[in-house]
Amino acid sequence: MNLKHEFRDAWKVERENNKIEEVMKYSKEYMNFLDSGKTERTSALEVIRLAKESGYISIDEAISKGNVEPGDKIYANNKDKSVALFLIGDKPLEKGMRIVGGHLDVPRIDLKANPLYQEANLGFFKTHYYGGIKKYQWTALPLALHGVVILNDGSKVDICIGEDEKDPVFCITDLLPHLSADQMQKKLSDGITGEGLNLLIGHMPLEGEEKEAIEANILKILNEKYNMIEEDFLSAEIEIVPAGKARDLGLDRSMVLAYGHDDRVCSYAGVKAILDSESVEYTGVALCVDKEEVGSQGNTGMHSKFFENTVAELIALQENYCELKLKRAMSNSKVLSADVAAGYDPNFADAYEKRNSAYLGRGVVVSKYTGSRGKGGCNDANAEFTAEIRRIFNKADIVWQTAELGKVDQGGGGTIAYILANYGAEVIDCGVGVLNMHAPNEIVSKVDIYEMYKGYKAFYNINI
Ligand code: MN
Ligand code: MN
Repeated sequence: MNLKHEFRDAWKVERENNKIEEVMKYSKEYMNFLDSGKTERTSALEVIRLAKESGYISIDEAISKGNVEPGDKIYANNKDKSVALFLIGDKPLEKGMRIVGGHLDVPRIDLKANPLYQEANLGFFKTHYYGGIKKYQWTALPLALHGVVILNDGSKVDICIGEDEKDPVFCITDLLPHLSADQMQKKLSDGITGEGLNLLIGHMPLEGEEKEAIEANILKILNEKYNMIEEDFLSAEIEIVPAGKARDLGLDRSMVLAYGHDDRVCSYAGVKAILDSESVEYTGVALCVDKEEVGSQGNTGMHSKFFENTVAELIALQENYCELKLKRAMSNSKVLSADVAAGYDPNFADAYEKRNSAYLGRGVVVSKYTGSRGKGGCNDANAEFTAEIRRIFNKADIVWQTAELGKVDQGGGGTIAYILANYGAEVIDCGVGVLNMHAPNEIVSKVDIYEMYKGYKAFYNINI
């Protein structure tokens, strides 16, 4: 009997299992997912495309069909920004669901409603950042524009500039070191300000135009390409994100460097795990929500009634609807709050407590609680449910570890865990460790994301 517990090395385990090729294949598919969705909208549409490819039908189609049966595969699209995939289980919904809930929104920089101006022969867009970013990290990088513009006639125009090799890119400027004597004395948080995040978008004046000729030229180009006028910015959502694709990191290609791991890495694993499942005892749900990075509000965030309403529709299709069944479906559910953890970074060892940190290569991370300053705002998972997850993961031979988010009183954070816990559901945080979290390019271990996928799949399929 082994009395001592030690975390396992996921690379070693998967090499012994002869699964390294599968690890690499999974990460390749994940990287394709990242490249096809750089915003919450394009990611949500990619989730739906993958679901349809696996035989999922929309909730509207299910409603017109008139019933649902075990094995049915249904997706619900919430305003093109959040999605829920349901694999209907053998047991009725009121017995509870197995939910893997992640988010598709990522810290970024948005255009203001009135963005365009010119100064000193340069054309700019004014911006307002979204989520928790270190502003200085977003300067001097190639940036792309993604989003939608709703024209005055109500038609929707998709914008994507900067991803194709032939596209131009954009940039937020920084000051040359030679003249940075004042800037370098400032705190890191003040070196680049929010109102300083102005996007350089052009420089050539429109021929024959005297006043604001650079602005006029930009408007002409936008009009030619998208049929839009300046007023259309008032009804647009345009996001600035790092330009380019996800890349292998390391000589051994063991990691992925990309924009948006938090939290597309967990959302994708939940989606892939349910798409790869066929029949389940309890209805499985891959939930991909929006607005997590700004507090989960709004009608596409986890606080909205979208998920609850969709479950109500499904109960109505399964049997006679009553509110009590909906309440039971929610409170009997078990949830993995699928979000990333802070990967231990030896270059910043002071911020972590090394005995309770997420190490790259030790597999999927289970966090009993997150929060800050004495667990403030956390969902502290019950020991009984933690034990259930432990048994499921051990039974399925998942390489997993436990971690807290940094050392006590160093900071902290949260996920959507507490919101689903409000219904009485059992919820625990479960994701992977990330280096450079919230930076324009984040880092994950390929073997960890594979263990996460396997862990989520076990959660849908194994009942303890
Ligand atoms: Mn997150
Ligand atoms: Mn985050």
